[in-house]
Amino acid sequence: MVLAVIGTGYVGLVAGVGFADAGHQVWCVDKDSEKIKALQNGQIPIYEPGLEDLLARNRARLQFTTDIKAAVEAAQVLFVAVGTPEQADGSADTRPVFEVVRSICQLADKSKIIVLKSTVPIGTARKVHALAKEHSRFPMEIVNNPEFLREGAAIDDFLSPDRVVIGCSSDNAKHVMTELYRPFTLQQDRPLIFMDNTSAEMTKYAANAFLSVKISFINELALLADKTGADINSVRTGFTSDHRINPAFFHPGVGYGGSCFPKDVKELIFTAQNHQIPMAIVEAADQVNDRQKLVLFERAKAYFNGDLRGKKIAIWGLSFKPSTDDVREAPALYLIRELVAAGAHVVAYDPIAGPNAKKSFGTDFELAENPLDCVRQADALLVVTEWNEFKNPDLTTLKNHLKRPLIFDGRNIFDPELMREQGFEYFCIGRQMLSQGERI
Ligand code: NAD
Repeated sequence: MVLAVIGTGYVGLVAGVGFADAGHQVWCVDKDSEKIKALQNGQIPIYEPGLEDLLARNRARLQFTTDIKAAVEAAQVLFVAVGTPEQADGSADTRPVFEVVRSICQLADKSKIIVLKSTVPIGTARKVHALAKEHSRFPMEIVNNPEFLREGAAIDDFLSPDRVVIGCSSDNAKHVMTELYRPFTLQQDRPLIFMDNTSAEMTKYAANAFLSVKISFINELALLADKTGADINSVRTGFTSDHRINPAFFHPGVGYGGSCFPKDVKELIFTAQNHQIPMAIVEAADQVNDRQKLVLFERAKAYFNGDLRGKKIAIWGLSFKPSTDDVREAPALYLIRELVAAGAHVVAYDPIAGPNAKKSFGTDFELAENPLDCVRQADALLVVTEWNEFKNPDLTTLKNHLKRPLIFDGRNIFDPELMREQGFEYFCIGRQMLSQGERI
């Protein structure tokens, strides 16, 4: 089949390359000409493990272009994968989606299938359908196909998804989407789930909201564990051994970030309020997350008796999670902003995301070349993202580089007992634990 993916970002590029790998001809369209030029030259504009190789293997089936007209003429199925960022009132900005759909409808010379892969507010497909009727001379089929891939594991998630959700109303759309996804679903015993468009839209928000609730739930428990002397790891193992409670995605940390959870949670709250159904649980998850993003800051500030002026603070990790260069809504952003405002001198290191963070954080901090340069003569080290390369440092060297052997670990990557044995003052999340003599 000939396909087009419009919006060649984290989702669109992976989807385009993934469909090409399944043997389809794919037009990847973006309005960002720099990005398209880079892709035409074989450069990948994002960091995503495995993407470069997969793209190179399928290069002959991929066209990178800014020319949406050519793509509309060539493709039978057009995926819309543009961004839907958060607006000031919390709602998602769907203007890029409508803009692309309008262009497709005006340019199409026959009926097409338009697939909304972007995460769109509940009810968007209905509006898109009305827009298509207004602007197209031919009937357009509107399909919702929300994407569930995780950055950092996007290739695996796309090629072997837990499930694929399709919202559509015609047998033709159902047939075409089944053929497109067969290699990734039915041939791998993965479910391909059909439903109506609105339910598909809601499914995406339900998934992200639920995962956000899980994270905020464990983070809140971890704060209580810190106060009471319980060990959150033991507590988690204990309560998730109940077969009704899935242990995945239940790790305390510095709060969720990224381009999806924060904005999708806000959009769900916004839509629910418009329908007079306040999402109390989801709202609480959002509030808990705002508090959690600043936990390391509050602890460092309390340690220095409320005065961080002139303190050199080292940060390990800037991306919102490991294995990605994405810094959108990264907890590190909030942390650095507060530290700098409190008068600290911040030096940060990230294996990949440093340049992105420098470009988009808009806060004055220094970027180090490697983890040890970062901590040299620092008053404290704050671990924010759990990249593998941070997990096994030579502790003696680390201690010698720091001015003060003080670590605030926002990802629980070290063993508290070992760190104390090695002479560190070590604070983590939900594992402050009582000393031996205080335990009963
Ligand atoms: P992104 O910002 O990385 O990419 C969006 C791309 O769309 C950009 O390259 C931009 O230049 C392009 N674009 C915007 N308007 C355009 C237009 N009118 N014509 C052509 N191109 C245009 O965004 P993303 O992270 O890939 O997310 C895309 C959508 O997928 C969002 O709705 C997001 O919520 C959803 N989603 C993202 C993820 C993720 O992990 N990033 C996962 C699941 C779902």
